[in-house]
Amino acid sequence: MKRIGLIGGMSWESSLEYYRIINEEVKKKLGSSHSADLVMYSFDFAEVEKLQHENKWDELTEIMIDKAKLLKNAGAEVIAICTNTMHKMAGEIEENTELPLIHIADSAAAEMEKKDIKKAALLGTKFTMEEDFYRDRISKYGIEIIIPDKKQREVIHNTIYSELISGVIKDSSRKKFVEIIESLQKKGAEGVVLGCTEIPLLIKNNDSPIEVFDTTYLHAKNIVNFSLDISNKIK
Ligand code: GLU
Repeated sequence: MKRIGLIGGMSWESSLEYYRIINEEVKKKLGSSHSADLVMYSFDFAEVEKLQHENKWDELTEIMIDKAKLLKNAGAEVIAICTNTMHKMAGEIEENTELPLIHIADSAAAEMEKKDIKKAALLGTKFTMEEDFYRDRISKYGIEIIIPDKKQREVIHNTIYSELISGVIKDSSRKKFVEIIESLQKKGAEGVVLGCTEIPLLIKNNDSPIEVFDTTYLHAKNIVNFSLDISNKIK
């Protein structure tokens, strides 16, 4: 089993899910007393969020590379970033650590490819929905991504930063998200990528009129597959 290095704390609410799912998957594959060999660096998210909203992405890239190197020094053999948004600098982290990085968008895309999804909605932070780094990665799999309109994107972004990252789960927010998913279904979305690692805390498959692709779960599963050398479909 390869040692997993997780860059977490973005937010800790979703890192907790990563820790749980990764250990559960290792147990499923290796048996009852097995658990993951992993190290995690967990950020004070307030510092990250501040720099994101000040548009200080170069500074954030430096900080992320630094933390990935800490994990390498702790023996990590594979790196995973426990947030969709911070995959903005995934390439730089991979280059600077010379470690394989399991990309969260590949995990979602490979699963959609398996289910023959050709057009999918993407929900996440504004950075994830509006910039190219995430959508382009998924479109390499021949999947078209559509995003909510501007007002809906604001609702999603604000709910993530003012509720979900603090573990606040409200029925009223769930209702708004479901309405947004319904409107994207009308535009032809066959599935919806929950492209923020806290959204699965709010939206489950049963809530959605179309299949949800839970990036936290799919990413965590692929991290384990890599660690245990189980081949998967990642391109
Ligand atoms: N966890 C979220 C994501 O998956 C948002 C937090 C962040 O900005 O990193 O994008």
